[in-house]
Amino acid sequence: MEKIEKTEQEWRAELTPEQYRILREKATEPAFTGEYDHLFEPGSYRCAACGELLFVSGTKYDSGCGWPAFYAPADESAIDEETDTSYGMLRTEVTCSNCGGHLGHVFGDGPAPTGQRYCINSAALKFDEE
Ligand SMILES: [Zn+2]
Repeated sequence: MEKIEKTEQEWRAELTPEQYRILREKATEPAFTGEYDHLFEPGSYRCAACGELLFVSGTKYDSGCGWPAFYAPADESAIDEETDTSYGMLRTEVTCSNCGGHLGHVFGDGPAPTGQRYCINSAALKFDEE
């Protein structure tokens, strides 16, 4: 699949100001404020920018960290991971492989079976109820 390429002006027109700050400027929503933090209904989570399927409810768990947490992506190819050294921390940034939008970070303190914690901004996701 071709990567989506849009100008920042186009993204700004399509996304809400909060979605734009997170997806395009790599901001982080304040902890415990996102609409999906405590949502555990069955369904799928798509990229708020391009609609790509990113995560499914079966891998979502309550990490207590204040953001939606998943222990695995819907598919390995749905997301890209890159080293992020901003704010003096060494973290792994997670982006949508389809549009390059910033989603959040992945940490190595998740539950079995993967041991991964994908800590994702609610505003970067769009929930589709099953
Ligand atoms: Zn996307």
